[in-house]
Amino acid sequence: CGIVGYIGKRDAYSVVIKGLKRLEYRGYDSAGIMLHDGTDLKVSKTKGKVTDLEIKAEAEGTIYGTIGMGHTRWATHGVPNDVNSHPHLSNSGKIAIIHNGIIENYEPLKKELSKRGYVFHSDTDTEVLVNLIEDVQKQEKVKLGKAVQIALNQVVGAYAIAVFDVDKPDEIVVARLGSPLAIGIGEDEFFIASDASPFIEYTSNAIYLEDEEMAIVRLHKPIKVRKIKDDTLVDPYVQELKM
Ligand code: GLU
Repeated sequence: CGIVGYIGKRDAYSVVIKGLKRLEYRGYDSAGIMLHDGTDLKVSKTKGKVTDLEIKAEAEGTIYGTIGMGHTRWATHGVPNDVNSHPHLSNSGKIAIIHNGIIENYEPLKKELSKRGYVFHSDTDTEVLVNLIEDVQKQEKVKLGKAVQIALNQVVGAYAIAVFDVDKPDEIVVARLGSPLAIGIGEDEFFIASDASPFIEYTSNAIYLEDEEMAIVRLHKPIKVRKIKDDTLVDPYVQELKM
């Protein structure tokens, strides 16, 4: 299972697809991609291989954009099929998430959200998290980063996540607890991945998130890393990768 993200000037589709192929060794049963081209958010996902995803994404026109996220899934909750594949969208269609790991307390959270009118299209724990983030954003009237943080503090489990909000189309929020997540820092561009292999050809500078840390990855801004629990700012250690 793996996570890839890109923000910058490059063709995000190629970067993400190539990155997903580099992460194939981690094992997976489905794959998906999300791209934003400045106006539209598009998602394509499928059971099967990254090559199956390429065929579907090209047929559906999910190929344009300079910001994107891709996922390979190793199913834990819900069988491997197209609907259960990631990315998952919130009910408003505005927030997209990719997730590796398990949300252990997804059942009570799902019940609570259902009472509030949220509907679920997949059998995954992940779709509960993206709607929890949306619900927090609405209730608390906070920005994406804060909403992700508040939501994660209600979650029991393990995760590496990347979250995108159409209202913040130059930003990806990432967080980790128990699953790896690296951020590649280029010139006016950022890469996100489960390990450095998807971005080592583009940059040799990387931040590896520690457990219980989250980061706001925003174009033309320094990366802000925080502790999920108590909101303290962490001075991120930028590692030099050996090519
Ligand atoms: N628990 C999530 C799911 O089943 C993520 C699985 C993964 O790590 O790929 O969809």
